[in-house]
Amino acid sequence: MEFKIKKFILKSSNSNTYLIQSEVDEKRCYLIDAGNGIEAINALQPNQNIDAVFLTHAHYDHIADIHYLLKRFPDCLIYCSLETKVALANSKLNLSFYHGTPIEYSGENIVVLNDFDTVTLYPNQKIVAIATPGHHIGCLSFQYQQFCFTGDSLIPEIAVVTKLKTGNKEAALNSIAKLKIHLDLNTIIMPGHGEQINYGNLNWDFFFN
Ligand SMILES: [Zn+2]
Repeated sequence: MEFKIKKFILKSSNSNTYLIQSEVDEKRCYLIDAGNGIEAINALQPNQNIDAVFLTHAHYDHIADIHYLLKRFPDCLIYCSLETKVALANSKLNLSFYHGTPIEYSGENIVVLNDFDTVTLYPNQKIVAIATPGHHIGCLSFQYQQFCFTGDSLIPEIAVVTKLKTGNKEAALNSIAKLKIHLDLNTIIMPGHGEQINYGNLNWDFFFN
C-alpha cells in the first residue's frame, strides 16, 4: 500500500484522530479530526507537514488540539461543513465550554464542503465528503480510497447519539442508510470512536432495530 493510516486516541473521551501519510508525497500529510492532534503531529517525520485537517464535526473531543495544530502548521487548511464551521467558532455549540477548556476558532483557512464535494490529497487521489447529519446537523463522513471515516455518524454496535444540540434520530438513520448504499463491500469503516471494521462485518441491522 502506498499510503498508511495511523490512529491516535484521545484517552479522556476515547475519540480517534487519524493521520494519513503517503509514499507518493511524503511531505503531505492529512488529519481526520484533531482530538489527539498532538500525538499525531509528534508521529511525523521532521520534513512532514499537515496540509489539511478534515473535521467530521466540531464536538470538543474531535477538535481538542485544533489550536496546537494551527500553531505548528499555520498554513493548514480546515475542511468541514458550514454547520461545523459555525460550531467551531462557538464553544457552547462545540460543547468545549462544558468540558473545561473552551475552544473557539474562526479563520480564513476554513474551507466549507458540501455533500459529495471532493478534495485532491495526492495526484489522482481524492477524498470525498459525504453529508451524514444526525449526530450533529453538520456531520460529514470522508471516503478516501477503500476507507470511510465516519466520525460519530457511524460507530459499530453503538446507537448514534442524537440527544445533543441539533441531533436528530431520523436523520442519523437516514445517514447510515445512505452510507450503506453508497459505500462498496470492500470499504473499511474508520469510526470516530472504537475500532475499524470491514463493511461486510458490520452489523448494519443493529442500527435499524
Ligand atoms: Zn460528537
